[in-house]
Amino acid sequence: MSPEKKVVVKKLAYQVNDELADKIREVMKSKNKLFFNMMGSIGSGKTLILERLAAKLSSKYRVFVINGDVATTIDADRIAKQGATTVQINTGGGCHLSAKLIQNELDKINIDDYDIFIAENVGNLICPAAWDIGAQLNITVVSITEGEYVVKKHPIIFKSAEIAIINKCDLDGLGFNSDVLAEDAAKIKSGMKVILTSAKTGQGIDELITALGIEY
Ligand code: MG
Ligand code: ZN
Repeated sequence: MSPEKKVVVKKLAYQVNDELADKIREVMKSKNKLFFNMMGSIGSGKTLILERLAAKLSSKYRVFVINGDVATTIDADRIAKQGATTVQINTGGGCHLSAKLIQNELDKINIDDYDIFIAENVGNLICPAAWDIGAQLNITVVSITEGEYVVKKHPIIFKSAEIAIINKCDLDGLGFNSDVLAEDAAKIKSGMKVILTSAKTGQGIDELITALGIEY
C-alpha cells in the first residue's frame, strides 16, 4: 500500500470508530446508564481502584466492568470477587480498546440489566487517548512510582480525560510528592478534576465516586 493510501485508511478507521463511539454514548444516555473509560499506565493501579469501586458500588448498583488486556483474565477475576459482573477482552497484542470491541461485548448482554459500565483500558499512556470508546467520562490514572515527570510527558492522554487520578499517594516522599503530579495534571486542562488516591488504603475512592457523579 502506498504511504498516501495508508494515511487515508487510517483516517477512515478513526472515523468509523468515532461514529460507533457516538452511537454507544447515545444508547447509554437514552437508557440513563453511566459509562466510564479508565485509562492509565501499566501498574498504575487501575484494577485495584476498580476493585475498590466495585466493592463500594455493588450493594447499590449493578456494575458491569469490561477489562482490556493483551492476555489473561486476571483483572476481570479480581473485580468479579468484589460483586461486579465482569468480562475480559483479550486484545491479543492490541494496545487499546476500541468502540467495536466495546460494542461486541454490549451485544452479548442486555444493557438494561446494569446501571454502571466501566471499561479498564489496556495499560498504556499513548494510543487509548486516540480511540474513543463511547464513554461519558474518561479517567486517566498514573501513580507516583512512575516518576516526577510522568504527567508532563503524556499531556495528550490527560487532555482526553475529565478526571485525573494520581495513585499510590501512600508512597509519597520518593524524592517528590503526589502534589507535583496533581499540579501538572491540573495545568493541562482547565476544569480537570484531579484526585489523589491510594487504592491500597482506600484514600480518595469516595471523592472519585462523587467526581463520577454517582450518588452513594
Ligand atoms: Mg489492570
Ligand atoms: Zn493502541
